[in-house]
Amino acid sequence: MYYVACVAVFLIAYLVNVTLISVFYHRGLAHSAVVLSPGARRFVATMGNWLTGLDPKGWVCMHRMHHEHSDTELDPHSPRNVGLAGVLFEQLRSYERILIGLARRDRAYTTVVSDLEFRISWLNRNRLWYLPYVVHAAIALVLGVVFGLWILGGAYFFGIMSHPIEGWAVNALGHGVGGRNFNTPDDSRNNQLVGLLVAGEGYQNNHHAHPRSAKFSYRATEFDLGYVLCKILAFAGVLTIDQAHLIGNANAANAIAARASAAAGVGALLHGELEALRPAE
Ligand SMILES: [Zn+2]
Ligand SMILES: [Zn+2]
Repeated sequence: MYYVACVAVFLIAYLVNVTLISVFYHRGLAHSAVVLSPGARRFVATMGNWLTGLDPKGWVCMHRMHHEHSDTELDPHSPRNVGLAGVLFEQLRSYERILIGLARRDRAYTTVVSDLEFRISWLNRNRLWYLPYVVHAAIALVLGVVFGLWILGGAYFFGIMSHPIEGWAVNALGHGVGGRNFNTPDDSRNNQLVGLLVAGEGYQNNHHAHPRSAKFSYRATEFDLGYVLCKILAFAGVLTIDQAHLIGNANAANAIAARASAAAGVGALLHGELEALRPAE
């Protein structure tokens, strides 16, 4: 029973983490693929950094720069520049550089996120970026030291604070290992394993081709948990999904392409028959 509780705590903490980062930060603030209710937006702006360890404004700035300069020298994290393993530290270095730039009101960064009405978090304005890690580690330590629930404490901490590993998997493997559905100008890939483990974020090729879509999956074999969370939160009134930019699915797209091709075939056939009926001159 204890181990079941540990797995449950890990999954709940992980769900909180991916809901905040993948749904609220990424699909909401960075791309407006979902529009957060005013209350949800205020919650993310004030509590997001405490819960995830990541500054919402700093994260959105880095992510938009990634889309703007994907897999070029200016990309804040690309395996093309630093290799797959190198992305782990490159994303942390870029995040720190961008936060310092935003704190100094450097226009190279502030213009990228000028639409976000809130400042970088109180934590980062006061150089206390480490406090969320301390708080979550303290909760885990209390569970271990006071109650003897060490595994439960570890499950909580690694569930809620998994963003460095998630970020590495998405940014490295999502641009280095996997197939492609769309011919985008970057190196983006659809990595099935990362797609399944990190709430659809591994389908980077689909996402780079359709960045305004709240849904990152395209083929029937791809599963985007983040989009399921979007639909649940839309039902609860927390956000609205931008329906106009939703990516289709491969089967429907293929059916449309097949119909278009069949229509073109009929057209060509008719044209051929008309040509055949035309009297020789
Ligand atoms: Zn990407
Ligand atoms: Zn994106």
